Amino acid sequence: MTVQLADQLSDPNLFRQQAYINGQWKNADNGDTFAVMDPATGNVIAQVANLGASQTVTAIEIADQAMRKWRLQTAKSRADILESWYQLILLNTEDLAIIMSAEQGKTLAESRGEISYSASFIKWFAEEGKRVYGDVIPLAQSDRRGIAIKQPIGVVAAITPWNFPSAMISRKVGPALSVGCAVVLKPAAETPLSALALAELGERAGLPAGLLNIVTSEDAVAVGAVLTTHALVKKLTFTGSTPVGKLLMAQCASTVKRTSMELGGNAPIIVFDDADLDLVMPGVINAKFRNSGQTCISANRILVQKGIYQEFIERLSAAVAEFDFGAYTDKSSSHGPLITAKAVENVHAKVKKAIEQGATVVCGGQLSDGPGHFYPATILGNLNSDMSIFQEEIFGPVAAIYSFDTEQQAVEIANDTPFGLAAYFYTENMRRCWKVSEALEYGMVGVNETAISAEVVPFGGFKESGQGREGSKYGVDDYLEIKYICMGNVD
Ligand code: ADP
Repeated sequence: MTVQLADQLSDPNLFRQQAYINGQWKNADNGDTFAVMDPATGNVIAQVANLGASQTVTAIEIADQAMRKWRLQTAKSRADILESWYQLILLNTEDLAIIMSAEQGKTLAESRGEISYSASFIKWFAEEGKRVYGDVIPLAQSDRRGIAIKQPIGVVAAITPWNFPSAMISRKVGPALSVGCAVVLKPAAETPLSALALAELGERAGLPAGLLNIVTSEDAVAVGAVLTTHALVKKLTFTGSTPVGKLLMAQCASTVKRTSMELGGNAPIIVFDDADLDLVMPGVINAKFRNSGQTCISANRILVQKGIYQEFIERLSAAVAEFDFGAYTDKSSSHGPLITAKAVENVHAKVKKAIEQGATVVCGGQLSDGPGHFYPATILGNLNSDMSIFQEEIFGPVAAIYSFDTEQQAVEIANDTPFGLAAYFYTENMRRCWKVSEALEYGMVGVNETAISAEVVPFGGFKESGQGREGSKYGVDDYLEIKYICMGNVD
């Protein structure tokens, strides 16, 4: 069944099914399309242009041309356009949220939150683009002066995931455009509509043709191969799984492209005996069940100190019993579905394996009937670090609870993973706040707080969770080259 998503929007022109190249809406050369589905119902909501390698090459060449003028504009004039784009995104929040919920499944409240978060990156980087300073460097010779300037790196390729269909784009496109680069972006095939709506608003904001190109495709391998090997692309920015990130880094090696990678996580959340459980519960619920557990900073391993283990489980079970999984069109829904049937299968397989290995099911753990890709809120107890679930990113509404005795043991368990994106802990002890923050091998640490993301802070991981930082004053660095200029004969 095809549903008319455009009819739900105040501005139906935000619903786009064609790719966006050189400021024009394009079909695939061969007319091919792919279906986008509402994960809550399985209904087809769009048929989107399915581009291949040759149109990706065209998009890169166009971006290269468009960038030549753009990089010479003043940072202020680029910022003015980004500022208008930011305003338009906010003005169209409701339509953008409906588009996002329809293709991704998250509740409208979550989608509205993501649109505001997404827009914040455009505004932030509009400002940061004006602050790309260089250095004057004292040299050993009196007749010379050293200068370091920063210049846009060149055409940027971006590959983004489906779990945050708007924000993962703006935190890459914002800095790239603000410092004078052009972008060729491949959004996830599950959620291309949010990307296309952003491009429509970018055009209305006055973004010149060719600077933001959206290559929609179901053939990630073919498009990815071009984006990672074409000589005109100088940088790849990727958010997605660690295996795909490693593959793309290897592909980028042949032309020595700069890469920034925001990859998988295996976030621990440590609850110490001295924590304030009234603060802990909403924090854990946010970190575990936001976006139905489909975030790279989701609490994947919940480590609870023995003294409060039982009370913690009881309180979490009571909170989870209040959840209402449903479609975004149903106002009572507190949580949405998983993205695909395959995602449900994957989560369920991890739960079954854990049970086989000795986990106890506190609640959930069973597949539900009916349409849509729903998985129930599940709590697993009696877990230990020898079980396979300890090393796997669950990416679903499954709370995996471990217990520990001492602070040292908690830190060792938390660090016992090749991942290092986000970690959280709860304690009322000031010494512990410092010591544990410093000991955790993670790019981001939440102390008595799990809502840690914002445009003003550096987001990124240690170890196999990636490289580079998005957001904050550091977020433009990955899009800049540093050039040293030596001025001689100054005497
Ligand atoms: P997830 O498992 O969350 O879907 P992926 O890493 O598979 O994470 O996907 C993230 C993004 O990477 C998506 O846009 C997807 O289409 C893209 N992708 C997946 N495989 C490849 C590949 N081999 N080459 C290029 N892009 C890819």
